[in-house]
Amino acid sequence: MTANKHVFKAEVNKILDLMIHSLYSHKEIFLRELISNASDAIDKARYEALTDASLAEGGEEWKIQLIVDKEAGTLTVRDNGIGMTRDEAVEALGTIAHSGTKEFMNLLESRKVTDNPELIGQFGVGFYAAFMVADRVRVVTRKAGADPAHAVVWESDADGTYTLDDTEKASKGTDVILHLKEDSKECLEEWQLRKIVKQYSDFIEYPVVMDVTRSKPDPEDKEKTISETKEETFNSRKAIWLKDKAEITAEEYNEFYKHVSHDFTNPARTIHYRAEGTTEFSALLYLPSARPFDIYTQDYKIGPTLYVRRVQIMDHCEAMLPPYLRFVKGVVESSDLPLNVSREVLQDNKVVTVIKKSLTKKILDTLADMKKEDAEAYGKFYGEFGRILKEGIHHDFERRETIADLLLFESTKTEAGKKTTLAEYIERMPEDQKEIYYITGVDRASTESSPYLEVFKEKDIEVLIMTDDIDDIIISGLGAYKEKEFQSAIKGDLDLGAENKEEKKKEFGDLLELMKEELKDQVAEVRISGRLKDSAVCLVAGEHDLDPKMVKMFQAMGQ
Ligand code: ADP
Ligand code: MG
Repeated sequence: MTANKHVFKAEVNKILDLMIHSLYSHKEIFLRELISNASDAIDKARYEALTDASLAEGGEEWKIQLIVDKEAGTLTVRDNGIGMTRDEAVEALGTIAHSGTKEFMNLLESRKVTDNPELIGQFGVGFYAAFMVADRVRVVTRKAGADPAHAVVWESDADGTYTLDDTEKASKGTDVILHLKEDSKECLEEWQLRKIVKQYSDFIEYPVVMDVTRSKPDPEDKEKTISETKEETFNSRKAIWLKDKAEITAEEYNEFYKHVSHDFTNPARTIHYRAEGTTEFSALLYLPSARPFDIYTQDYKIGPTLYVRRVQIMDHCEAMLPPYLRFVKGVVESSDLPLNVSREVLQDNKVVTVIKKSLTKKILDTLADMKKEDAEAYGKFYGEFGRILKEGIHHDFERRETIADLLLFESTKTEAGKKTTLAEYIERMPEDQKEIYYITGVDRASTESSPYLEVFKEKDIEVLIMTDDIDDIIISGLGAYKEKEFQSAIKGDLDLGAENKEEKKKEFGDLLELMKEELKDQVAEVRISGRLKDSAVCLVAGEHDLDPKMVKMFQAMGQ
């Protein structure tokens, strides 16, 4: 047998370097990552065995085993899950099989990641955490259903290369064998492993077991002891979303969040409830505290993990959430769906429609509460996800008012970085102000110095400053808020300062005519403006024209 040497992709070397040198203080998470992979692998095998029973290969109990060999200094994490073919092993353990690799590289290059190591959790690089405690990792794996002679062994000592070889493996699944570093030998101790499993993986559905040897007094001869080895289960295995709220601690909620989201930071909010009635389901949802790096990419996966009667059916059920709530993570379990549902069936399934409606309402209600009770936390959340939430105005006609209540904007009267709600803006409006004024731009500083705002400053009228790319579409779609119409400070004719416009028109009539004639190919109209104080002229868009920024946006999209 020849060992085939392969070279890691550049991003893998970077992540390994980071794992080994910067994330060291969190090294016990390696076990959480390996157990989580083992559990994913069993989920897959169990799901596929629903339609092809032979994949269960004799139907031994699904479990994750920890095997310690003190002499060799190794810890093995063994599962009897789906396993990997040779090609899958190359893809999964030699690259970062993630669509956001480019973003990931940028992140690695920035200082941000050494300061916030938890960020890397989002990239699906959990396996490489093994190298935080091991200087050599060996993976022996065989795909469920494959011939025992067709197994592969992958091995690396994180020196930029790995080897791949054929081997035999009687049982399906994967062994990850860690040759522990000198300073990680405590991972050979039962109490230490038990502690880490309890802390990070208690809710894992499958038993995490280990053979534990205990000695006890020999009943025959009090002078002697006999030792006995028994398999013990370290985790309590309760599906956290099915438990009673009162039984769950904040740490447990947070750990489970990290498990489902691959995020290393705690969530901003946890939503846990059970719906009873014609459609019954349990939902445990989380609002993350930071935006995943790939949320604007096509490959970003939407929706909670779906369980039907304790079996994981799919890890992202996009039919359960509207796209504008795509930042929400979590789990939904329903017993009203068949085990063999497909994505297509889910798209227009009655049960799913009911659940989606309920989740949407619950999430929007939670955001409204958060805004009311903890404006600072809400502001922070909005800074991360407001741009996405806002899409709901466009896409969810029924709930646009509810979503509009949740919007925040800067304005000419807010302190830099502070935002106001539309309701607060209306409250501050003087009685004779009829409309909500807004201006769009790329950032606050440049927008605020716009000549369009001169008259508003002069008259001390507040103007909302909108700097998101979709604000124009959103605001024209919304049209009005609490019966006050939106009026762009850039477009059309403004009522402001119109008092002596008629007089001025007479006075400057000839000049206007002359200018109109001269500029007829460039402008549609020349008129006296009430909006300027210090500048002599400005270009305005017609009432029904696209905003200049949108014109640019469409041009940028090649239209
Ligand atoms: P993620 O779990 O987020 O995909 P990881 O780095 O933890 O990222 O794992 C990478 C991939 O390696 C997994 O997606 C899976 O395809 C494969 N893998 C890792 N461990 C196992 C295992 N125990 N059984 C089967 N496949 C595994
Ligand atoms: Mg993983």
